[in-house]
Amino acid sequence: ETAVIWFRRDLRVRDQPTFLAAKERAGRALALFVLDPTLLEPAGPRRTAFLYRSLRALDDDLGGRLLVVKGDPAEVVPKVAKAVGANSVHVAADFGPYGRQRDEAVEKALGDVEFVRSGSPYLTVPGSITKSDGDPYKVFTPFSREWAKRLGKDTEPADTDAKTCTWMDPSDKDGGPRAVKVPDDPKVDAELPEAGEKAAREQWEAFVDEHLSDYDEMRDRPDRPGTSRMSVHLKYGTVHPRTLLADATGNGQGATSFRNELCFRDFYAHVLWWFPRSARENFDPKFDPIKLDSNKEARQRFEAWQEGRTGYPAIDAAMRQLRGEAWMHNRMRMAVASFLVKDLHLPWWWGATHFMNLLVDGDLASNQHGWQWAAGTGTDAAPYFRVFNPVTQGERFDPQGDYVRQWVPELADVDGLDGKKVHQPWKLDEPPADYPAPMVDHKAERQEALDRFNAL
Ligand code: FAD
Repeated sequence: ETAVIWFRRDLRVRDQPTFLAAKERAGRALALFVLDPTLLEPAGPRRTAFLYRSLRALDDDLGGRLLVVKGDPAEVVPKVAKAVGANSVHVAADFGPYGRQRDEAVEKALGDVEFVRSGSPYLTVPGSITKSDGDPYKVFTPFSREWAKRLGKDTEPADTDAKTCTWMDPSDKDGGPRAVKVPDDPKVDAELPEAGEKAAREQWEAFVDEHLSDYDEMRDRPDRPGTSRMSVHLKYGTVHPRTLLADATGNGQGATSFRNELCFRDFYAHVLWWFPRSARENFDPKFDPIKLDSNKEARQRFEAWQEGRTGYPAIDAAMRQLRGEAWMHNRMRMAVASFLVKDLHLPWWWGATHFMNLLVDGDLASNQHGWQWAAGTGTDAAPYFRVFNPVTQGERFDPQGDYVRQWVPELADVDGLDGKKVHQPWKLDEPPADYPAPMVDHKAERQEALDRFNAL
């Protein structure tokens, strides 16, 4: 008998519960990936290139036996199953709004062929953690207490590798959708991290060796390599959070703090599962009437923010890091989001869309809710009146100005730009001519944001 293993956001061979479920039911397995235009179109060139690279790495790990087809999964997956005489199709469950709907359609179209969901991209199944009365949590801390109780047997890594299944040669299939090559990478104007499971493992092992123990102290420093950079690998499942959790054990502050971040990832997936509309609208509709700018002048402000020429060095460094590396440090994601909403009075979803266009780790649940957190409109949000100061954020978290120097060449070697001064170049006797003055007065715009809030 044959089982189809349909890979989606789980492009790895280790820690793969689908392999174990398939092996239980069938002597051989067909590895399948579907290039689905509905998902590929909005992914943009950066994530598409990373996906293709991850697929090539997976194909290598499977000895060249990954079948890639193109089309609507509800049409092509049943055809593939038929062409190889499969009795079951195996997936890690998807919980995003589109993924849920797609999987229901595929399951229906499969008819008698069993559709088996094993695990998910998360440590806890989205929707499974509720208050005792069945209501969803809207605040992180009580959610995280319940979440911690669930860790244990179900979150141990599955013991699998490429040899767990006997892989069918895809050219042995009898008809069905045409096999295609993984397409060539689209042109990318950023330095992407290395893709694939092996790269994920190496990156993770280096982080555990060098940074995990002081993660709690260093995680807020954009000028230091103190975070794991696992977000893109978690997004594509080139590593599962179970594997990370297995190393981030114990009561050390670094490991405890790291587990807390993995919990945030689960929390936002839960929130999206319960409230899919929060991907597009204010989670808290109380904020819908707040006055936001969207005229031509607002568009120009938005462009200056996108291009990293606001005149606030830390904000500009971060926006240029996003362009250059397709990634931005978490502390700076919060700072630039606050700046867009509170200093520029623009809609958070403009910023969220820009992030989704450029981030290689762009993830609907974490991104939209991260934005709503910063905008003050989301679950468990920062209170609206808490406005980040773009200068003090830089001074506190990039105290020597190294982050700014790295990303804003205009400020890299101006005389007298030591430490603090790099964050306020307008105070120099001779401010660098090619770097803009601050586009807004933070104090005045902060007050403007509060006035708009109070007018609600
Ligand atoms: P680490 O500090 O090493 O954290 C480890 C893992 O924990 C991360 O890989 C991530 O999976 C998870 N994590 C950490 N912080 C958060 C958080 N605040 N929310 C949810 N999960 C978290 N993360 C994304 O993966 N994709 C996004 O599109 C995204 N957009 C964001 C937008 C805004 C406005 C904000 C404030 C945050 C966003 N985040 C997003 C969360 C966070 O910034 C990134 O996960 C983190 O910077 C990734 O770097 P890292 O892997 O080195 O993180």
